[in-house]
Amino acid sequence: MAKQKSMTIAYQVGKNLYLNLTNRCPCACTFCIRNNSDSAYGSDPLWLEHEPDWDEIHSVLESEDVSKYHEVVFCGFGEPTERLDMVLRTAAYLKTRGVISIRLNTNGLADLIHGKKTAELFKGLIDTVSVSLNAGTAKGYLEVTRPKYGEEAYTAMQEFAKDCKNYVPNVMFSVVDVLSEEELEASKQVAENCGIPLRIRALD
Ligand code: SF4
Repeated sequence: MAKQKSMTIAYQVGKNLYLNLTNRCPCACTFCIRNNSDSAYGSDPLWLEHEPDWDEIHSVLESEDVSKYHEVVFCGFGEPTERLDMVLRTAAYLKTRGVISIRLNTNGLADLIHGKKTAELFKGLIDTVSVSLNAGTAKGYLEVTRPKYGEEAYTAMQEFAKDCKNYVPNVMFSVVDVLSEEELEASKQVAENCGIPLRIRALD
């Protein structure tokens, strides 16, 4: 079936405002919502007709009372850090508009995407980074996440998350609640070894 496209840059989820800046992603997660839907949480389609430029993003956010939201979250139909510069620019703008809490939901592969360490760039701009751990073993991670970078992705994702602890007030890992008991226990152990809390979230 053909994908439904739109220019949904911002959409409300509960008390939060979610931002959708790209459809690019280096992963092909087996559980990705994009496999079965064109939208999330009742939003308009999240497949973008094109990646919004700054003027388009600015225009949408200018018309919003962004400070009324509990949290503004970079999380759409793709990996936000594929557009790292735009995430940083948007976060800086949101801070000038009085947004207290900004979260980045990420697969944690920004360092591989950009070929450099990236965590420091979030200092003072991003308040929470939620990294998809997805599995407790490299083998399980590759099976579920299917990153184009192969095996090095599992380690790089954990290193990124640990780096973020130096620059971002809140860092967490997440897994979805469809993991086997064994994989879940292994995930808890990995999170503990990294010194990062693990959030077990329901599959959307
Ligand atoms: S990292 Fe996120 S957007 Fe990318 S395939 Fe996995 S669930 Fe989908």
